[in-house]
Amino acid sequence: MPHEADQLRAEFGTVDDRVARLNDRYRNHSATSVLELALRDAELGRIALVSSFGAESVVLLHMISVMKPDTPVVFIDTEMLFPETIEYQLEIVKTLDLRDVRRIRPNPTKIAAHDPDGLLHQSDTDSCCDLRKTVPLQTAISEFDAWISGRKRFQGSTRQNLDFFENELDTRIKINPLAHWAPADVQDYMINNRLARHPLVAKGYPSIGCAPCTSPVKAGEDPRAGRWRGSQKEECGIHFVDGKMVRGPLPAAIVTEAQTPNTQDTGDTAMSVIVQDTGFTTDDFDGIWIDMPADTDPETLSQYGNTEGIRVAFTSFSDGRGFTLARMLRLAGYTGRLRAEGHVIADQYAMARRAGFDEVEISPDLAARQPAQQWVFRADWTANDYQSRLRKRA
Ligand code: SF4
Repeated sequence: MPHEADQLRAEFGTVDDRVARLNDRYRNHSATSVLELALRDAELGRIALVSSFGAESVVLLHMISVMKPDTPVVFIDTEMLFPETIEYQLEIVKTLDLRDVRRIRPNPTKIAAHDPDGLLHQSDTDSCCDLRKTVPLQTAISEFDAWISGRKRFQGSTRQNLDFFENELDTRIKINPLAHWAPADVQDYMINNRLARHPLVAKGYPSIGCAPCTSPVKAGEDPRAGRWRGSQKEECGIHFVDGKMVRGPLPAAIVTEAQTPNTQDTGDTAMSVIVQDTGFTTDDFDGIWIDMPADTDPETLSQYGNTEGIRVAFTSFSDGRGFTLARMLRLAGYTGRLRAEGHVIADQYAMARRAGFDEVEISPDLAARQPAQQWVFRADWTANDYQSRLRKRA
């Protein structure tokens, strides 16, 4: 839970209530007054600015440097950024005298396990973004009650209805002070305040992300056309609309169904919770499980071909060997039920599904801390999971 979330809820109501009230309160305000007032509004709690130090990031960075320079700034360094972005980031932090910039990198153990050669983006951009952006960001902002983003309505179809305040999964509030700005407003602000431009803008990059996934944009193209060019992908998974992620279709049932962990009491011992795409459920498997430790030698996996069910143990959420085992089992032709069991967290559910797991088994304690919605909101793996690929091949 974010810092002070319980106190905020007790004092001001649910995230939904607060978002509705804030949008109402600031509906006719300008971008700068929304930001200035939001930074002091008790209903928002602890606030961070999330910045990519991209083409237009300097606008919000400049605003907070004037209004409240000690506002925490979270910068996700995917380790795939252009060198120009890193240089620009250092220059802007110094010039604007920003006091609390947090450069967040992906977990090195996870990188070693899932993308040791830095080529994951070539085969699976969603997994790469999860690993390098979404999970590090979610971890970094978990201590905040609200975060500021530079998104604007004009930036594409997924952002057309953007409001100043958004409910992010009933957990925290996202603030979009520039939601209603047009491209000319951004340019005017930068010119009027003599702000340094990202060096790649002059080279035809109006929107700048990771180097392998960003290309220059031709005259007349959408400013974001150079991001993941040639694919359907529009967002990295960081952004949400009305509390839902926007990069993939989200089944309504997943969002609306009241999902609480099933902790049937069998005497003193609560049963484990099974996480599937529809949320939390109970164990319906009546075959025979083989329990597979995380350090199982991959060379031995071919012998499990006829097994009904395999449970792969995760002893630590930072240990990626279970994902590798699942992927290799599927590649070796294993078609039975495959379950990840133990220390898997909600942020890893999409990765587990893509690796070939059918489901995850977690403790009731973890289920209580990370509700079903947190596990299943990233529903875009459904087009690419093992069972779907099998169906396509058939
Ligand atoms: S934008 Fe590309 S390189 Fe960067 S995290 Fe996403 S897929 Fe990986």
